[in-house]
Amino acid sequence: QPGNRTMPLLHFDNRFVHELPGETEGENRPRAVQGICWSRVPPTPVRQPRLLSFSRPMADTLGLSEEDIRDPAFVAAMSGNRLLHGMLPFATCYGGHQFGHWAGQLGDGRAISLGEAINPAGERWELQLKGAGPTPYSRMADGRAVLRSSLREFVCSEAMHHLGIPTTRALTLCLTGEDVVRDMFYDGHPEAEPGAVVCRVSPSFTRFGHFEMLMARGETELLRRFTDFTIDRDFPDIAVDDPDRYAKLFHTVCERTALMVAHWMRVGFVHGVMNSDNMSILGLTIDYGPYGWLEDFDPLWTPNTTDAQGRRYCFGRQPEIAHWNLQCLARALSPLIRDQQVFDDGLAAYDRDYARHFRAMYADKLGIERIQDNDEPLVQDLFTTLEAAQLDMTLFFRKLVELDLAAPSTETVREAFYREDLREKEGRRVKEWLERYGKRVSSDSLPEALRREKMLAANPKYVFRNYLAQQAIDAAEAGDTGPLETLMTVLQRPCEEQPQHEAHAARRPEWARHRAGCSMLSCSS
Ligand code: AMP
Ligand code: MG
Ligand code: MG
Repeated sequence: QPGNRTMPLLHFDNRFVHELPGETEGENRPRAVQGICWSRVPPTPVRQPRLLSFSRPMADTLGLSEEDIRDPAFVAAMSGNRLLHGMLPFATCYGGHQFGHWAGQLGDGRAISLGEAINPAGERWELQLKGAGPTPYSRMADGRAVLRSSLREFVCSEAMHHLGIPTTRALTLCLTGEDVVRDMFYDGHPEAEPGAVVCRVSPSFTRFGHFEMLMARGETELLRRFTDFTIDRDFPDIAVDDPDRYAKLFHTVCERTALMVAHWMRVGFVHGVMNSDNMSILGLTIDYGPYGWLEDFDPLWTPNTTDAQGRRYCFGRQPEIAHWNLQCLARALSPLIRDQQVFDDGLAAYDRDYARHFRAMYADKLGIERIQDNDEPLVQDLFTTLEAAQLDMTLFFRKLVELDLAAPSTETVREAFYREDLREKEGRRVKEWLERYGKRVSSDSLPEALRREKMLAANPKYVFRNYLAQQAIDAAEAGDTGPLETLMTVLQRPCEEQPQHEAHAARRPEWARHRAGCSMLSCSS
């Protein structure tokens, strides 16, 4: 009987609310809080919850069947209309540096965690609704999210996971049946858009900003307690009674952040809002907002309209900005770590690890055993060539595997050109680079079969291009979830050839160049 299946489907063990101080009572109105890490806050029910899509791989991981997910009671829970047994909804308090400046208390303004589910494998997966209504941390905003931004987070976080990139995940995408007015720049005027709620999933949603907030308030004992909790819950490799635990924590965060950013640089992902409140302590890609994928290669490109002037968060600066954010985390931990050397060492480890991962990943992308010091000019010239010729990053690398090493031709990468005039003008330069590259690969020790294998695995064919997102959004807004479902399937196997989905690998079509949503987005999306 629908709606009457036996609950619970999930087992919860809510450590964050049980082990850290929070407020269980208090009005749900925006305010600054002191001395606590979370506030009890129920999601605000919506008019007409409807499941639009769910991630099968994420459901599998949680031990949920399709029947479980489609159960009306479960859909109601995923939309904020009811709580399942064991759920204890809460929003957390954090601060952060936004665009280089301390912004004070921010917090989960439109995110409400439902609880920490333990899956059949014994793993901890926190379920968090984004767009589930106001919390004490909503400040001036409404706590809601529109379908457009929710679909973008839902699809992209799963796509990143399947690209092998550390990320928060997503389980469900639900429509609320309510309109939300948003973003006066979208299509030029404010518009009512369908509201939606994503259930995102992660072992932890803790951010650098959680530590920064406690340090800024001078709540050193709570900072210590929160840090010990984080080590105990989220860093099982570090013992809670290890006298060096704080140093080890900082070091590990530096290492994980380096790996995450190197992956972004591998696939051409631009986060768009790398504020310190959007940096995960686990080194996961978090808070998908105005992110984008590089198409015509440009290190200065940012998808974020709010950042169009300063380009603080453009593609090429991401490694440097992550380092800057780690310095914020270092300052936040300074009451616990008296020895500055610990921070210097951690930050040096970040730089070293980033360079090491970047080299290893680009060696795989280029199909060579390793990038030697004397390969640096070849790699540097590759980037200047991609930029000068405005080549599509994804297509260029994917096509490189097909290059005839004995007689390299620009024809092999023809599809990567956006502009005919640049193909004429820069064709020679591209050809020269391909010739140098051909020679380098021919003299490399990597066996041919292994080279192909590495290149195909490091150079995705299918990424969540901005125009693909917009097509899926337009269709979903018109009631057709077909394109969304196709994308979810295609992006599960980004590095495999999928001949029936060849169109999804195409470079950005001309119509999408200046279309809102296809190139640039704003923070409030
Ligand atoms: P972001 O730029 O998305 O990282 O958001 C920065 C802060 O603004 C976070 O504290 C968010 O929770 C909050 N925020 C963003 N959008 C909304 C919204 N629609 N309602 C309430 N809070 C929001
Ligand atoms: Mg955020
Ligand atoms: Mg956001």
